[in-house]
Amino acid sequence: MNKDKLIVANWKMNFLYKDAFKFCKKILSKKKLIKNNFVICPPTTIILQLSSKFREINFGAQDCHYEKSGSYTGDISAFMLKNINCKYVIIGHSERRKYHYEDHIILKKKMETVLNTSLIPIYCIGEDVNTKKKGNTKDYLLKQLLNVLPKKNKKKIIIAYEPIWAIGSGITPTIDEIWEINLYIKKIITKINLSYKKTAILYGGSVNKDNSLFFLKNNNIDGLLIGGTSLNYNAFSSILSY
Ligand code: PEP
Repeated sequence: MNKDKLIVANWKMNFLYKDAFKFCKKILSKKKLIKNNFVICPPTTIILQLSSKFREINFGAQDCHYEKSGSYTGDISAFMLKNINCKYVIIGHSERRKYHYEDHIILKKKMETVLNTSLIPIYCIGEDVNTKKKGNTKDYLLKQLLNVLPKKNKKKIIIAYEPIWAIGSGITPTIDEIWEINLYIKKIITKINLSYKKTAILYGGSVNKDNSLFFLKNNNIDGLLIGGTSLNYNAFSSILSY
């Protein structure tokens, strides 16, 4: 197994238990071929069923609330996720920022709560197309990092660089562009807190079976966050086996 690379499947609002069960069962039946570490982030409704059945798979959630409990209709807390065997939580996905208006203040609280709950946050950052066109990507990412990452934390975090324009679009940055951004992210997070030095920085956005190998072969990309392609068993299992 390639212990250094991490593949995160973000299933978003897809799959009922029946299909998710089949998917996980097939993945485990091929476990001898799997070379990369992986995490599956299913819809919250089926995490407990899956995590009880497939103890060898690491599961994550796609979001959580920052409070432990309370009057927050429709929300799920990090504490509740821990209770259903989640190990990871995605925070700050661009779809949460866009459709749920999650800003730095909310995300900072979520980050703190997730770390205090001993879950591993997968913090998503990435610029929109206009920011990229104006050449402001680095400043944009800087704010996303400075405003949310705690200065004193010693617990593990994961960062996923996901340019918004690459998500679901079929377009990806070049390897050189990702490399430059990853170096920049590393520089910034190490300045925020020296203990972030070894933080894994994943790439996400239109990863598919064909381009994933190029990303995974690159030493400066620590893994991948995959949306659409993670719903396709054949493609996803191939990526795990590279
Ligand atoms: C995502 O939404 O996090 C993502 C990476 O999506 P996709 O792989 O479909 O571009």
